Amino acid sequence: MKGADIKRLIKPEIKRLRPYVAEDTPCSVKLDANESPYGFEAYISSMKEIKTNRYPDPEAKELRKVVAKRWGVSSENILHGNGSDELIHYIVTVFGGPVLYPVPTFSMYGIISRAMGERTIEVPLTDEFDLDLPEILLTIKRERPRLIFLSSPNNPTGNCFSSESIMKIIENSGSVVVLDEAYQPFSSKKGFIPLLRDYRNLLIMRTLSKIGLASLRIGFLIGSPDIIAAINKVRLPFNINSYSQAIAVRILKEKGLIERSIKNIISERERLYSAMSSIKGIRPYPSEANFILFRVKEADRVHKALLRKGILIRNMDGQVKGCLRVTVGNERENSLFLDALDNIVKQGQREALQ
Ligand code: PMP
Repeated sequence: MKGADIKRLIKPEIKRLRPYVAEDTPCSVKLDANESPYGFEAYISSMKEIKTNRYPDPEAKELRKVVAKRWGVSSENILHGNGSDELIHYIVTVFGGPVLYPVPTFSMYGIISRAMGERTIEVPLTDEFDLDLPEILLTIKRERPRLIFLSSPNNPTGNCFSSESIMKIIENSGSVVVLDEAYQPFSSKKGFIPLLRDYRNLLIMRTLSKIGLASLRIGFLIGSPDIIAAINKVRLPFNINSYSQAIAVRILKEKGLIERSIKNIISERERLYSAMSSIKGIRPYPSEANFILFRVKEADRVHKALLRKGILIRNMDGQVKGCLRVTVGNERENSLFLDALDNIVKQGQREALQ
């Protein structure tokens, strides 16, 4: 091959980077990505009003208006992203590091920060998966992070962090605190949007991906207008395509549609949790999200055995030793998963006795 060896020109932080792995293993029951089991394609009519030769609305005005109304804020409080992933990228671009976050948590905070050459500071959660407040406050004092990411409910543990601890961090850090509420719709705890009025260093992230619209790639950042305007400077001009904008507006305006699907997911989550609790050898953790983390002996074997039966869940062993994460599916999917899990665990116990 001709030409210079351009590999040597790749930045060292990118050479070191371990990318996000999105699984695309074929399966019949897909419970690995915290998607909703309920899609809304039946509500999408013709898209003839969209001109294929024209760029989308750069400001996504209609879409921002609809979500602003939902959350009781104004459009100037909202920045739209091609998924929250893109917003994380913008936030790190604007504020830089060091970037602090608890672990285990959503891996993109670390991946994006490192890709941009920023230093990351990881503070382990307590054994109950809550924020280790004394350790976080000490670390903040020592390291002066510019940015803090907190996912509450947290992925992959499923719990909400203690509100008092979150408040202490917002009040005492001097950093920008991004509260990622991707799973808030499934939680029994109140979200933090009403607090935005009082704390300028607070930013809240939401997404449509977990509530039935993952294919659209739409996320939102909510914050005070001047901070949102500053981040908007680095937003790519036409970041959400016309079709995604139109479909999201259409579905969000359908009264009660998303809410009904969320209610179903919550009630299936409770059924799943109690059925998993009664399987000997499984320890599910309580969840305020649309997935359940659980501990099981031989997590790798169980993960592979489920996949052989066509059921894909997420192996979290690398992040939380001995744990797997299952997304709440529809009733049929959850029942198939429960049956398969029960059989696989019992078979393991029988083999251990032989
Ligand atoms: N935040 C958290 C906590 C998540 O778990 C995920 C997806 N797994 C995201 C954000 C990404 O959401 P989006 O699809 O909007 O990029």
